[in-house]
Amino acid sequence: MKTHTQVAVIGGGVVGASVLYHLTRAGWTDVVLIERDELTSGSTWHAAGGMHTLNGDPNVAKLQEYTINLYREIEEASGQSCSIHITAGVDLATTPERLDFLKVACARARYLGLGMEMISVDEAARLFPLMDKRHFVGALYNPLEGHVDPAGVTQAYAKAARNKGAEVYRFTRGTSLSQRADGSWDVITDKGAIHAEHVVNAAGLWGREVGRMAGLELPILAMEHQYIITGEMPEVIASKEEVLHCIDFEGEIYMRQEGKGMLIGTYEKHGVPWSVDSTPWDFTHELLPPDLERIAASLEVGFQHFPPLERAGIKRIVNGPFTFAPDGNPVVGPIRGLRNYWVAVGVMAGFSQGGGVGLALSNWMIDGDPGFDVWAMDVARFGDWATPGYTHAKVRENYSRRFRIRFPNEELPAARPLRMMPVYDRLKAKARCLGPPSASSMRCGSRRKGRSR
Ligand SMILES: Cc1cc2nc3c(=O)[nH]c(=O)nc-3n(C[C@H](O)[C@H](O)[C@H](O)COP(=O)(O)OP(=O)(O)OC[C@H]3O[C@@H](n4cnc5c(N)ncnc54)[C@H](O)[C@@H]3O)c2cc1C
Repeated sequence: MKTHTQVAVIGGGVVGASVLYHLTRAGWTDVVLIERDELTSGSTWHAAGGMHTLNGDPNVAKLQEYTINLYREIEEASGQSCSIHITAGVDLATTPERLDFLKVACARARYLGLGMEMISVDEAARLFPLMDKRHFVGALYNPLEGHVDPAGVTQAYAKAARNKGAEVYRFTRGTSLSQRADGSWDVITDKGAIHAEHVVNAAGLWGREVGRMAGLELPILAMEHQYIITGEMPEVIASKEEVLHCIDFEGEIYMRQEGKGMLIGTYEKHGVPWSVDSTPWDFTHELLPPDLERIAASLEVGFQHFPPLERAGIKRIVNGPFTFAPDGNPVVGPIRGLRNYWVAVGVMAGFSQGGGVGLALSNWMIDGDPGFDVWAMDVARFGDWATPGYTHAKVRENYSRRFRIRFPNEELPAARPLRMMPVYDRLKAKARCLGPPSASSMRCGSRRKGRSR
């Protein structure tokens, strides 16, 4: 193991591996990644691997496009297959309001050059014959949607980075961090110390723990998430092409083909946080006990809307944890007052966003600028006010609303009121519309102790 390096990336999930790859691609090759177990040992190994370009924030939508288009590049650079399946997808509306929402998403996507289009229910049913047309009023067709193999992608990033000089230390746990006077870091591991000019916290499920090693309390929380895999389905076996991806917003479910059946995932209304205070270090390649009851309501809607699913039976249930920020977007960038410490955590859609996160962070570290508008995922959008209590309330709210419509200027109630002006009570008494704090007042990096901005 090296004793000195330019960058030590902590965490070998899809995000850490992407950061490592992007650093080497941009010319920083004296870089290492430390992983406490095998690569993918957090949320990454059990992900469904789905990817798409639909996002409420245009910059994040573009970043998702970048990520999906990157997979061919890393396959070539590594010789490792990512098992890329670009199937395209249909996103289905059951109400006029949802159809309007999809039209807005479509218009924005077309402006961004993402090539989505609105299609009729008949056309959607031709593309996705599992659906019962009677329940739907229209659909959005997204050509850039599909899935990849999570382990293949992570290995491909890591191998491509190694080919350019990076080193990957598996079964090496970062146990503590201490900063030298010149801003560089001593990264203490259970296999020895590495002196690093920069540290990247890409520790996923352990992002909070690696934050705490530097005195930070990062606003992220893991939620349990379940998907099921059905038994073999004659409709899937008979299909000449791979079945398209599909989102049914009313059922709050997403699905794709898996083998000769379908994979169906859902974001239930009463989601359950996992390991609220800290993540156990001995949690590795483990799943959580399934709880079908919790997702039964969504599955029932799914079975009505897609009758062949009901006949297929359930072959396997996966319940695993992954982390979210209060607004559901990644938490990326430098921390004010904590020189050379970078974060890339809270990435809830690693296979749609991991590539873009790696690109932004590596640009930021090397050029001092992420290279594109990253406000939606900049860690600086949070401040000390984003306490664990706030994060808990907001993450649960966000999870429960994953497929709901967010209306322009809509203020969501969880964890409010949080910060109030002296005139708050008087304004409220007059039923004024109260909004979030201005962006400028939110621009403060979050440190638990030793503040030195
Ligand atoms: C059931 C389920 C289905 C999902 N489906 C999808 C999907 O279809 N599409 C999608 O895009 N996303 C999906 N996700 C989310 C996806 O899994 C995450 O976005 C992604 O895995 C996050 O990757 P990460 O690298 O940030 O974190 P992690 O995968 O948690 O990786 C962090 C790594 O850091 C290591 N580590 C932590 N601390 C240390 C330390 N101190 N020293 C050394 N190593 C350390 C850990 O061992 C781990 O390997 C799903 C998640 C779940 C649970």
